[in-house]
Amino acid sequence: MLSYNVAGLLRSTPGTARRYEVHAATLEIADDLRLAAPIEGEVRLASTGRSILATAELTTALDERCSRCLAPVATPVHVSLQEEALPSIDIDTGLPVDTAAEPDALRLDDHHELDLQESVREAISLAEPIVPLCRPDCRGLCPRCGTDLNDDPDHDHGDMPLDPRLAGLAAWRAPDAGH
Ligand SMILES: [Zn+2]
Ligand SMILES: [Zn+2]
Repeated sequence: MLSYNVAGLLRSTPGTARRYEVHAATLEIADDLRLAAPIEGEVRLASTGRSILATAELTTALDERCSRCLAPVATPVHVSLQEEALPSIDIDTGLPVDTAAEPDALRLDDHHELDLQESVREAISLAEPIVPLCRPDCRGLCPRCGTDLNDDPDHDHGDMPLDPRLAGLAAWRAPDAGH
C-alpha cells in the first residue's frame, strides 16, 4: 500500500511519468488520530534522471470530535504531496549509492521500491483541523447544563442565575452562541 517499484522508471528517459490510482487505502496515522474513510486519489511518479519525483493528491477523512458539541465527526481532508526520492542502489551498476552527500533525502530501498507511507502519514497529520466542527453552524452545548443545543434549539434557562463555575465558559461562548 502506497509503495511502488520504480526500477523501470529509473531506467527510462528523464521526464517519463506514471500514474497510479490510490483506492481504498488504509493507513495507521497515530494512536490518537485515526482515519474515518479510506484514502482515495492518485500518485504520479516521474523520473528526473537522478531521482524519482512523487506527487500525490489524496483525500480521506479523519475521525474527530466536534469542538463545540463533542459529537463524533468524520472530517474530510485533502492532501497534496510532493517528494523527491533518491536511489540507494545504482540502477545500472547495482552498486550502493554514496548517500553521505544527501543524508536527509528520502531514499528508495535496495529493491528500488519507493515507500510513500511515512510521507502520506505526515501530510495527513498536518491536515488535521485545529477546530473540527460537525457542521459550520453547530450550536454547541449549553454552557450551563451541557444540553446539546442542536437537538434543543429553544433550550432556555430563563433568568436562572448562572453557575459561577461556568461563567467563564458562558462568556467565551457569548459572541456566537445566540442563546
Ligand atoms: Zn457540533
Ligand atoms: Zn442548559
